[in-house]
Amino acid sequence: TPGVRPLIAGNWKMHGTLAEATALAAGVAAGAAGKAELLVCPPFPHLVPVGEALRGKAVALGAQDCHAAAKGAHTGDVAAPMLKDLGAAYVILGHSERRADHGESDAAVKAKAGAALAAGLVPVVCVGESEAQRVSGEAEAVVAGQLAGSLPEGFAAAGGVVAYEPVWAIGTGRTPTEADIAAMHARIRAELEKAFGEAGRTLRILYGGSVKPGNAKGILALAHVDGALVGGASLKAEDFLGIAAAV
Ligand code: PEP
Repeated sequence: TPGVRPLIAGNWKMHGTLAEATALAAGVAAGAAGKAELLVCPPFPHLVPVGEALRGKAVALGAQDCHAAAKGAHTGDVAAPMLKDLGAAYVILGHSERRADHGESDAAVKAKAGAALAAGLVPVVCVGESEAQRVSGEAEAVVAGQLAGSLPEGFAAAGGVVAYEPVWAIGTGRTPTEADIAAMHARIRAELEKAFGEAGRTLRILYGGSVKPGNAKGILALAHVDGALVGGASLKAEDFLGIAAAV
């Protein structure tokens, strides 16, 4: 999108030792260059040491989830203000693995995104259809419904990010055709403009699902694709930087 700085975000999921995480962060930081903003999202226990490894570097820090409450009796959960306090700038919310593993509904994702905004974090809200929904022609309607249900008030003013991640493309090595990605991103743009007016025109819409250095250039060149959310390929600095270099 013209005038929008692309974002290349790494979702490290539940991978890596502390030593591996800090080495990966250092590797990404050492190679950070180019047009795109870079973001890495390590598992919770690695956030602080990775943040230290990134200090003064051109790589932002994000988390993979937060609770909808700012504090309280929620054993095992992590609050958005805690993430802000340790130096995170972003938080991924509503990833399909959390929607599946933890039964997160659109309403739950919206509440979490609201908490993130209140804490001064930029939410990266994930949406995407299942394979059955793609096959039956419902993909755009499903995603439009997820957007309507998952994005809180204030999302656009804070520069919130949407990540389109077809569930069947995550970790599978399969991607939609470039035409299908472009069509979905155009639909998401239309939904963002409908919801937020002018501000919706410049919100970043990331594509996620089996992005690799080899397919990044074609995907990142598509209209309304303002970056990528990268899982598997974000675990190797060389691959992640290779994707960023394709912007
Ligand atoms: C993800 O889960 O956010 C993702 C895009 O994973 P992968 O790149 O491994 O498909």
